[in-house]
Amino acid sequence: MTIKNNSVVSSVKRIVRLVNVDSLTLSVNNTNIKCKVGCYSCCKRWIEISVAEAIIIRNELVNSGKWDYVKLKCTEYADVSKNSNETSWFLMNLPCVLLDMSNATCCAYSVRPPQCSLHFVTSDSSVCHPWKYCSEKPDVIDSSSLVMKFVGEFTHAVGESVLSFRSHIPVALLIADRISSYDIDNSHSYTKIMNDVINGSK
Ligand code: SF4
Repeated sequence: MTIKNNSVVSSVKRIVRLVNVDSLTLSVNNTNIKCKVGCYSCCKRWIEISVAEAIIIRNELVNSGKWDYVKLKCTEYADVSKNSNETSWFLMNLPCVLLDMSNATCCAYSVRPPQCSLHFVTSDSSVCHPWKYCSEKPDVIDSSSLVMKFVGEFTHAVGESVLSFRSHIPVALLIADRISSYDIDNSHSYTKIMNDVINGSK
């Protein structure tokens, strides 16, 4: 069975959607949350996702007709992503490749990563801006138990395979595209697929 059709990916999609329910419950139960539509400072953060999550997001974008545009942005960002770390990326103030700047929303909202759906602040959202971050820290709601719940369910569903390897969103999505475009199976090494993406080879 190829990775793109792997039933494990379907299981992960179900788990990601359940996190959305947790996210909604969290936001409804906390009236102090200051996050609001139109604010996207947290979408400048360095977010790493697994290959399984990247396949789900990539498929969602293919179905909505947005993949070609996002793929261009992933390719544009790939080099700087590979030469960055969490801090340097954030300070560059670059928007996530999945952020639709025309309406300031995530174009993969229904399957966005748990690091995004479970991230809420109770401090003024202006503090979240990357260039404010050096002097002030936002008050982030502790959602670690929900993150751990996701990690546990994810690990149970995926185990140790190519699907579990994590990388920065632009690179992860390019890996997912490669996996979805070729008959790659679970026996392929992540390193080989990643090197192919980095070197642009087939
Ligand atoms: S995946 Fe979506 S919610 Fe998460 S950082 Fe990117 S645009 Fe923002």
